[in-house]
Amino acid sequence: MTKQTLSVAPVPFRLGVLGHSPAATGEVLAMTKAEQAASVAAYYQSHKTQIKTQRAAHRKAHKTEIAASKAAWYKAHRAERAVYLKVHKAEIAARAAAWYKAHKDENITRSTAYYEAHKAEIAVRRRAYLKINKVRIAAYGKAWYKAHKIQMAKWHVAYYETHRAKEIARAATYRKAHPDKYRDHCAKRRALKRGAFVERVSRVVVFERDQGRCHLCGKKVDPNNWHLDHIIPLSPLTPGGKGGEHSYRNVAVSHPICNQRKHNKLTGQLRLF
Ligand SMILES: [Zn+2]
Repeated sequence: MTKQTLSVAPVPFRLGVLGHSPAATGEVLAMTKAEQAASVAAYYQSHKTQIKTQRAAHRKAHKTEIAASKAAWYKAHRAERAVYLKVHKAEIAARAAAWYKAHKDENITRSTAYYEAHKAEIAVRRRAYLKINKVRIAAYGKAWYKAHKIQMAKWHVAYYETHRAKEIARAATYRKAHPDKYRDHCAKRRALKRGAFVERVSRVVVFERDQGRCHLCGKKVDPNNWHLDHIIPLSPLTPGGKGGEHSYRNVAVSHPICNQRKHNKLTGQLRLF
């Protein structure tokens, strides 16, 4: 195969050089445009495999050159291209969607094979990308979540309904592995139910802050058995009164027994009102 036969000349010329097309005999000149197009199309159809093989070989042999030439072209026509893409946006999207639909199985097979073959490489690249774009991605995700909140909630409910048994098992495993987090979650839920102001409170943080001491009696508590006491109780003591917050400034470590005593005392006081 000589280099000439592989040149990237316009199609009729290239076909002529191959020596099989009407172009080689000069007939092309006597043809109308439509006839010419038909002839080229017919030639392409009958030599499809050959042409494709040649083109692929050419692309392979001139990979760098072609890439450089493409890049240069894109660079030189950037503004023009931007305008074109904007004007034909819908059209281009429709064409791409149609193409994707027509080649769906093929596309999936190809991309799956590519992914399998380049798995490790892709993971490294993805991690690097996530690291560099961390802030931007987080902001984007937050905005997206906000815009799709209702949709997401519906989706979660539907997912839970269809995966109920699995989700229950997963939650149980999680509770067992993270008892402190589960308690944080329950405390927050209780506070929300009472309509209190709520912030994310971690038992681990409170325990460390209070150095494991009961704020009611001042003695150390059992790290595996202590209560998170709300200094001002969550429930309002008087009708129409304001309950306490579920926040760091309104919680403290306490013995279960001290917590219970305080509770009894407060409700006892309440009975006096
Ligand atoms: Zn105590």
